[in-house]
Amino acid sequence: MNDPQNPSLAAIVQRASAERVFNFSPGPATLPTEVLQQAAEEMLSWRGTGVSVMEMSHRSKEFESIHQQALDDLRELLQVPKSFRILFLQGGAIGENAIVPLNLIRRASAEKPKADFVITGTWSVKTEQETRRYGDVHIAASSKEQRYVRIPDVSAWNLSGDASYVHLCTNETIVGVEFQQVPDIGQAHGRVVVADASSHILSRPIDWDRVQVVYAGAQKNIGPAGVTIVIVREDLLGFAHPLCPSAFNWRIVNEHNSMYNTPPTYAIYIAGLVFQWLKRQGGVQGIEQRNIAKAKALYDFLDQSAFYRNEIDPSCRSRMNVPFFLADESRNDAFLAGARANGLLQLKGHKSVGGMRASIYNAMPFEGVAALIDYMREFERSAA
Ligand SMILES: *Cc1c(COP(=O)(O)O)cnc(C)c1O
Repeated sequence: MNDPQNPSLAAIVQRASAERVFNFSPGPATLPTEVLQQAAEEMLSWRGTGVSVMEMSHRSKEFESIHQQALDDLRELLQVPKSFRILFLQGGAIGENAIVPLNLIRRASAEKPKADFVITGTWSVKTEQETRRYGDVHIAASSKEQRYVRIPDVSAWNLSGDASYVHLCTNETIVGVEFQQVPDIGQAHGRVVVADASSHILSRPIDWDRVQVVYAGAQKNIGPAGVTIVIVREDLLGFAHPLCPSAFNWRIVNEHNSMYNTPPTYAIYIAGLVFQWLKRQGGVQGIEQRNIAKAKALYDFLDQSAFYRNEIDPSCRSRMNVPFFLADESRNDAFLAGARANGLLQLKGHKSVGGMRASIYNAMPFEGVAALIDYMREFERSAA
């Protein structure tokens, strides 16, 4: 039975589970070990069917049930109102940078397509540049001059009256700023707010009175790369450019309940397992409390230290992505090597920012943050 040359699947899963480290990758990012264990157990035969989820027809009743459960759970977790549709697409958030204008930038005027942007970091810049291919872009506010350390105050946003929508990146993964709430900028009077929530979706509730379109690639807070979530108010489905590819036309995708083309079935299945896991954590409210505690522990540690620093204004520090610097940058390599040796992976900062970055998404347990702080304290002490 326990032949070491031929271990059972259960033994393999057990051994691999014991090898797991704390992975601070910005994305693709850590997933709950429980979810991966369940996926491993169901890998070869999903619930007695004799086939893996990745081998099923997307039209089979088995996959239909996986798909529908994932949609229902996501709707419940985010309290998505009935007037909004949830779409599972492909193409990632960078794909959406084109797909959003293709679907929406002609809403206010097909002749003069236009969108407003609030620039808060690297990702909103990238989105704005892509949008320029499809219409006029008006920069309503930007914190570039402040090196993105704080989100421009809404009282200074210069919104135009004739834009089809206002685009925000509600968590800037690279620079580490996050909207603590989306401001009320007159959606009641017909303004449409589009939010790229790729790196914090499901980490906190969404106020559906203040955003009308939310999109997110899955690989930060949801599951594996390959599925893109788009949540869109139903009345915004009919404005696509005639040349918008059918598979990216929100109205067409919605009419087929996200089955117009073959959806990324395995990614949807894993996302569904993550949604179930989130429900067991007390839903979004439960995980939000954990995220607050994790972020507070790390920022408090950074703030009391002269050895490390975070430069972001405390009012808009991201709970998900925490960039930090060593006062003595010549120690960066030693810091990263020591972290790796302690089972703390992927802490190197984005090349455009430098320094370090700890991404502490939903699936990062508090113990991971505590282990990071312990390591940082020890590294500081040993460097003294
Ligand atoms: C990661 C990320 C993206 C890019 O996602 P892709 O899946 O690579 O297209 C876009 N926006 C934000 C906020 C991100 O964090």
